[in-house]
Amino acid sequence: MRTPAPGQWRSEKLSQGYVADYKPFVMVDGEGVRCSLYVSGCLFACEGCFNESAWSFRCGEPYSAALEARILDDLGHVAVQGLTLLGGEPFLNTGVCLRIVGALRARFGRAKDVWCWSGYTFEQIMDEARAGSTDKLDLLRSIDVLVDGPFEISQRDLSLPFRGSRNQRVLDARLSCAAGRAVEWLPG
Ligand code: SF4
Repeated sequence: MRTPAPGQWRSEKLSQGYVADYKPFVMVDGEGVRCSLYVSGCLFACEGCFNESAWSFRCGEPYSAALEARILDDLGHVAVQGLTLLGGEPFLNTGVCLRIVGALRARFGRAKDVWCWSGYTFEQIMDEARAGSTDKLDLLRSIDVLVDGPFEISQRDLSLPFRGSRNQRVLDARLSCAAGRAVEWLPG
């Protein structure tokens, strides 16, 4: 597993704007029924990664207006609670992620929530922002729940809700940003 220095990995240099997959109406990527967007490209290289095929920044297809329209239509279904961003690494694909979250907020406001899985911890994202990667902080501020930290196979625990290893945390992104420290997410 790799650990970047703050500011070392930048979305504007790495992202190709590709998405590896899109799955509507899933029930395993967060709370409730969700639409899941898998962005392409990750450098963390966790041993035992659940989606190694999405490590390439050219995996899949370019994100498109047509896909965005489809996602927004799917999110409009009354049974859907929100959007989930995972990968790959959403914080190394902030162009795609900020675009779809912005479109979601424009259409649904806070009526739909956004969950995001990242290999970065909350504290690392804060350090990234201080090192000039403010796009990562912009994304953190736009989501509702952050499942943070890399998958560590030595801490693997399949009994945990929403995460695969004990080092990972399920955080309330809005409360964490407001407090400037990691705040655990509690089911509503
Ligand atoms: S951060 Fe996630 S997508 Fe990236 S290597 Fe680790 S488990 Fe895989």
